[in-house]
Amino acid sequence: MNVLIAGGAGFLGSHLCDFFISKNHKVIAVDNFITGKKENIKHLLKNKKFKFIKADISKNIKIPGKIDAVLNFASPASPKDYIKYPLETLKTGSLGTLNLLELARLKKAKFLFASTSEVYGDPLVNPQPEEYWGNVNSIGIRSVYDEAKRFSEAAVMCYLRDYGVKTRIVRIFNTYGPGMNEKDGRAIPEFISQALAGRPVTVFGSGRQTRSFCFVSDLVKGVYKLLMSDYKYPVNIGNPNEITLKELAEIIIKLTASKSKIIYKELPQDDPKMRRPDITKAKKILKWLPDVQLEDGLRETIKYFKSL
Ligand code: NAD
Repeated sequence: MNVLIAGGAGFLGSHLCDFFISKNHKVIAVDNFITGKKENIKHLLKNKKFKFIKADISKNIKIPGKIDAVLNFASPASPKDYIKYPLETLKTGSLGTLNLLELARLKKAKFLFASTSEVYGDPLVNPQPEEYWGNVNSIGIRSVYDEAKRFSEAAVMCYLRDYGVKTRIVRIFNTYGPGMNEKDGRAIPEFISQALAGRPVTVFGSGRQTRSFCFVSDLVKGVYKLLMSDYKYPVNIGNPNEITLKELAEIIIKLTASKSKIIYKELPQDDPKMRRPDITKAKKILKWLPDVQLEDGLRETIKYFKSL
């Protein structure tokens, strides 16, 4: 296949570029570097199966030639980033998604959208199944991200119903691994950077909020299986192993053999109290299950941060 990966210089996008190339597909990565890094794709630039186009998907983008699949992974993804770039995030998750859907329609390509567990907001059910409609604050500071993703899902379903585009929606739960930006403020890069530097590890709130962390190689396999399946409705991809943020900080301090202490700061607005994917659909429809244990994935990620 010729696969277009929007957000290809980002954390997940660059792992997808590697994965598709390893499976002998051709990849066109599109990115405007708002939160991505050239280093993530540097090793691919001389590969004949890889092409990079610097472009903003929320502007009019034209891609010549045959495209079989469009994967939309472009969007600032960490709360620190989308609060810093609110309008860019809204435009990317609205105009950007519409532009790429139109491209997929014209090229008769499949379209896969990287949605998020944030469409469930601060959920009132745990774990979260795909049928749950969510508890989202439409005017809070996180809404530029959450509502853009919800708009994108609506746009995807419109192109499926009204134009017959072969669409897929993956609802991604917290994913981590090498290639993350150490300064993007997400819990794992933040805790690892603090622990490696011997600085206090900052946990927001009481630290009793829960998250479920999926290693990037598991996520990438799930995305590939979804793209290759015929399933048109949203599928959660994540690791259901749920832990508190305090436990996460303690594990990272142990694995880095750090002397850092945990300190507590005020909880940001609308921070979800719990997050755990119900992955029944992914198991049944895609025959997908995560298999990297948290401590193993963290060791790989710590190794990456040490190498920077
Ligand atoms: P990231 O910030 O590392 O990657 C996003 C990439 O998109 C960056 O390279 C950025 O420069 C690019 N981008 C942003 N706006 C763009 C635009 N208008 N035009 C072109 N490129 C643009 O984040 P990530 O963690 O790799 O997330 C990738 C996708 O997966 C995002 O859509 C995100 O919402 C989704 N997602 C990620 C997670 C996670 O845990 N990592 C969880 C849920 C959803």
